[in-house]
Amino acid sequence: QSTMPTTASIQLKSSKSDVPTGVFINNEWRESSDSSTFEVLNPATGAVLTQVAHGKAADVDEAVKAARKAFKTTWGKTVGPEERARLLNKLADLMERDIEVLAELESVNGGKGVRIAREMDIADTIGCLRYYAGWAGKVAGETIETTPKTKLAYTLLEPFGVCGQIIPWNYPIGMWGWKVAPALAAGCAIVMKPSELTPLTALYLCNLIAEAGYPAGVFNLVPGLGATAGAAIASHMDIDKVAFTGSVLTGRKIMEAAAKSNLKKVTLELGGKSPVVVFPSADLEQAANWAALGIFFNSGQDCTAGSRLFVHEDVHDKFVELLVQKAQACAIGNPLDEKTSFGPLISAQQRDKVLSYVESGVSEGATLATGGKKWNADGNEGFFIEPTVLSNCKPSFKCVQEEIFGPVASVLKFSSEEEVLELANSSIYGLGAGVFTNDAKQAMRVSGELSAGTVWVNSYNLLSNAVPFGGMRQSGMGRELGLAGIKEYLAVKSVHHNLGEDLE
Ligand code: NAD
Repeated sequence: QSTMPTTASIQLKSSKSDVPTGVFINNEWRESSDSSTFEVLNPATGAVLTQVAHGKAADVDEAVKAARKAFKTTWGKTVGPEERARLLNKLADLMERDIEVLAELESVNGGKGVRIAREMDIADTIGCLRYYAGWAGKVAGETIETTPKTKLAYTLLEPFGVCGQIIPWNYPIGMWGWKVAPALAAGCAIVMKPSELTPLTALYLCNLIAEAGYPAGVFNLVPGLGATAGAAIASHMDIDKVAFTGSVLTGRKIMEAAAKSNLKKVTLELGGKSPVVVFPSADLEQAANWAALGIFFNSGQDCTAGSRLFVHEDVHDKFVELLVQKAQACAIGNPLDEKTSFGPLISAQQRDKVLSYVESGVSEGATLATGGKKWNADGNEGFFIEPTVLSNCKPSFKCVQEEIFGPVASVLKFSSEEEVLELANSSIYGLGAGVFTNDAKQAMRVSGELSAGTVWVNSYNLLSNAVPFGGMRQSGMGRELGLAGIKEYLAVKSVHHNLGEDLE
């Protein structure tokens, strides 16, 4: 907990990169208010990468003051939509310039295969910035006809104000982009807290925000823990909205803090236990490919992970055989290797939690078809576990009910469409769902009946920046991406002009 410099030199694949490690307020770096820090690890080795400033309530308060000032003066008063679009595109250009450093940082801090970080996480985030640059100033209010006619009524869509944004560790850059792009396109000012496990890319991006030319105070980053910086954002009296992605447990705390403070608007993207349903008419090889992607992508640390696999009894055994093959073919290894697609879990705690779910599944009667163990190449200390398939699961098993957030597929057998819809929809969550069938009527019927914010038919986990994303029930409220995503950062103001109605 000693006094820290505000930059660390991080070893990447072939070079070192200077990464800021402080609190970013008003386009400047500073130590945290009490000079304390926390450790950030490389999950593939367990080694400490650096210390990062531990922002506290006092830092959040400073950041909010800076954001409020920008919102009331420069950013909010003089920067028009064309300039907001230009700045977002400029930021995207700078990310393209620095894509290699960003990809390698995302890889060493988040454990992602570097190629996937570059070609998916970062490429999609650059796309998200450009997509929302296109919406800046183009989401308009309406003129409304009224009775009496002697009135002109219209709505204005105004930026919501100062927005708190709290993001998780599973997609550090991806979730940064989903939050930052619509908020800046709408004209809001931001106080963000990255996950304490993966703050490095968000820290690096602050310098690009300043370089792009954003006025001071528009974007502020307070790294810190949930209980400190996170809680201070959720309960701040001068934050107008908080956007959160993370667990249900924390989502509840955020809503509670919002309710107890200033009733700020809350949007939540929470967990899931998404069902994937495989009918007999499906192309089984394709279904297994997509299902494997659905549960093993990002080592299963995915809010939409297709973790409950319902397979029709006629094709069950063949499907399990194919899924096991796909699991065993996952390219597990050093995330900085271009070939790696399956990296470590984010922490030792997360790995142990996932392994305890595997144990509980087996003790309740599931068959461990493959995986289920720690994986350590060359005696490394990373937090890897093998891609895992638990077959013969029953709906009541803990591994079927609860979000595992790791690479564990729980496979269940079903015999009728009616039965499987009942089972698939009986979850507290409603984030994603998948259906595999070559019967077009069945595809329409079942996708209509599945209760989830996103349903994939004959694919899984394919997102687009233009298509809204979010949850039903305890998977959250509000939407990100698409037109719906920017509307969450705009407030509707109604204006009534009296055109001649005189009061006696
Ligand atoms: P988490 O809830 O532990 O943490 C998320 C963020 O909240 C972190 O930045 C953390 O520091 C902060 N936080 C923790 N306690 C807080 C508090 N009391 N007040 C304010 N902030 C606090 O979640 P996680 O473990 O980082 O992420 C995994 C979870 O995120 C999973 O449940 C997953 O399903 C979910 N997730 C959802 C989506 C989605 O879009 N629906 C996307 C990714 C992850």
